[in-house]
Amino acid sequence: MTGAESRRLSTVDLEAFVRSSDVRATRAAYASYVPYVCDCSYCRNFQAQSDLVPPEVRSLLERMGIDPMKLSEVCEFGRSDGGGRLYQAECPFPGQR
Ligand SMILES: [Zn+2]
Repeated sequence: MTGAESRRLSTVDLEAFVRSSDVRATRAAYASYVPYVCDCSYCRNFQAQSDLVPPEVRSLLERMGIDPMKLSEVCEFGRSDGGGRLYQAECPFPGQR
């Protein structure tokens, strides 16, 4: 990924991908959800940096009822052009696309 591509990705309107979410059901599910915690170095690094989730992403997750501290299925894709590491994490929720 080039620097231009990574800048473009940072402007994606995440809300355009979500039509609706059942916020009450999502909050209830995340309240009792205990994510699997992998102890590999990639996952430990992701957890250590989880407070760096961009505010607009954190805000969207919270409005959907998703606890941003309980992301799951973390995948690491190596170094990013910005000098950090590129991660993907999943946050399932009941709703429609
Ligand atoms: Zn891991």
